[in-house]
Amino acid sequence: MSVHRGPGILHLVPTPIGDPEDITLRALRVLREADLVAAEDTRTTAMLFRAHDLHAPLVSYHDHNEVARAAELVERIRGGARVALVSDAGTPLVNDPGWRVVRACIDAGLQIDVLPGACAAIVALAGAGLPVDRFYYGGFLPRDEGPRREALAELAALRATLVFYESPVRLATTLDTLAHLWPTRPVCVARNLTKEHEQWIRGTAAEARAILGEETRGEVVLLVGGAPEGVTFDPATLDARITQLMSEGLGARDIASQLAAATGLPRREIYQRAVALSRSEPPRR
Ligand code: SAM
Repeated sequence: MSVHRGPGILHLVPTPIGDPEDITLRALRVLREADLVAAEDTRTTAMLFRAHDLHAPLVSYHDHNEVARAAELVERIRGGARVALVSDAGTPLVNDPGWRVVRACIDAGLQIDVLPGACAAIVALAGAGLPVDRFYYGGFLPRDEGPRREALAELAALRATLVFYESPVRLATTLDTLAHLWPTRPVCVARNLTKEHEQWIRGTAAEARAILGEETRGEVVLLVGGAPEGVTFDPATLDARITQLMSEGLGARDIASQLAAATGLPRREIYQRAVALSRSEPPRR
């Protein structure tokens, strides 16, 4: 059934994430009939247009002109234009520009038509072999080690599969961090989805790191199993882990950082418990 057409409309049109055949018949029709196509990179979209003999006029819509361009597009739609928004690959707005023009259309009472289609996070979730009843999409992790570790630590207690887009250059380091934080959790690296060199690496973070080797190319979705069901950090378990780390020579501050990152419990709570335990422990020789 075709979508009701108002006088003007914004279509959100997914494009392939690798395999050129992953574009729907409806996406092609909408792009063919559009009065204007707003594209993240007009050169990339021009290639798609050549492949499918599409000829709608293209304008750029990217992070640097989004505010001004959104206002212009709203005016065009208000005037009756059928505008399609595409990004370089996959679903617009998913770590790509677009939400401002969607918001502006909603505020202006204009019609929005969202087409389903390719999205790397969803393809990766479907094939990872991890539960998908609940998932957390985290976009790109921070570039630097400290903030990245903190971002992961904040998610330690979440009982949902974690999904991230990751730069291939930082993937090895991120896997090392995960191996340290959550050594037993299942991980999946979904590389080059729908492309010739598609690769799925499944195992613990350390196993995935070993399989990955020195590879720094490709496009990557990184998935991590959520906090294990049934594992609660009851006081006795927490005390045992604190005592173990104390016996390895760590101070209360380091123990608090490490266990907060691993368990999601508040750092201050662990610190206070570690201090209390260190006072009640017989001095180490
Ligand atoms: N809007 C896109 C979508 O729907 O998936 C995502 C855009 S985001 C700027 C680009 C990131 O998506 C890449 O750095 C990579 O992490 C992920 N990605 C895109 N295509 C991919 C593919 N074929 N295989 C694995 N990851 C991919």
